[in-house]
Amino acid sequence: LQAGLEKLRDEPAQTLDGTRITLQVNTGLMTDINRSLERGAEGVGLYRTEIPFMVRDRFPSEEEQRVIYREQLAAFAPHSVTMRTLDIGGDKSLSYFPIEDENPFLGWRGIRVTLDHPEIFMVQVRAMIKASEGLDNLRIMLPMITSVIEAEEAQHLIHRAWLEVRDEGLDVSMPPVGVMIEVPASVYQARALAQRVDFLSVGTNDLTQYLLAVDRNNRQVASLYNSYHPAVLHALMHVVEQAREEHTPVSVCGEMAGEPSAALLLMAMGVDVLSMNASNLLKVKAAIRQVDISFVRRLLNEVLAMDNGEVIGSYVDLQLTKAG
Ligand code: PEP
Ligand code: MG
Repeated sequence: LQAGLEKLRDEPAQTLDGTRITLQVNTGLMTDINRSLERGAEGVGLYRTEIPFMVRDRFPSEEEQRVIYREQLAAFAPHSVTMRTLDIGGDKSLSYFPIEDENPFLGWRGIRVTLDHPEIFMVQVRAMIKASEGLDNLRIMLPMITSVIEAEEAQHLIHRAWLEVRDEGLDVSMPPVGVMIEVPASVYQARALAQRVDFLSVGTNDLTQYLLAVDRNNRQVASLYNSYHPAVLHALMHVVEQAREEHTPVSVCGEMAGEPSAALLLMAMGVDVLSMNASNLLKVKAAIRQVDISFVRRLLNEVLAMDNGEVIGSYVDLQLTKAG
């Protein structure tokens, strides 16, 4: 742990003037569990389930998945664990399930794969629901949603899986279901999606990539990849406003949420939960505890009127350094 920060472990993520936010972690490997608990995470905002699939040479069985998911749920209970259904394609591939897309980020990815293969989806969701027995802290999240239809189809399958598990005699509740907002289309469907699902979670890694047409892994264009780009900030603001109209909570689970200055802007927008790599959690908490929310809201209003992402980034850092 970073020196001096460990004392914040059990302190609330709260501004000087008392506005609170929930800080969660992104997990995937078993080792993430201890690192997260050590830093006082209030649950998991993104459990990347493709990771246990990637380290094997075949699809894990329903029972194998149940055991893995149970470990996550039990470690963080009573806090919630948001499990994302398989998000393969793009930059995440399985050796035993090759996808040959010429343009993988615009190809067969995330929910598209699992809606085309409901047998893979059903096994996974049944394993998640079974794993939650007696804990009740599971939330299910759908990746790469571009339309309401995809969300509804997936919700329908999850409901069916829940009925099946109940028919097998397990006493489990139907988990809340949410969608990732990470494709520009879903930004403009945010209100309709918020009406139908239990939560939205913005994946700023992909959202930045798709809004700016900048491959998130291409070094040649890395300098153009900027989550302070006005298009990204306005998209985020729009999602939060639309979700608020429907009283649907919004999280951010992209890398941006783990960057202290950006995290403060997200908090000023009204984001309810920030989910990040455990290594950033205490840094973000320290930044939150050093400012007034009114100060950060003024800063947000200023930057929403600016039109250069690089200038915005340095301006925010400068103002926050001066303040804290
Ligand atoms: C994202 O896209 O921001 C995200 C959190 O998901 P991943 O990085 O796994 O694509
Ligand atoms: Mg993503």
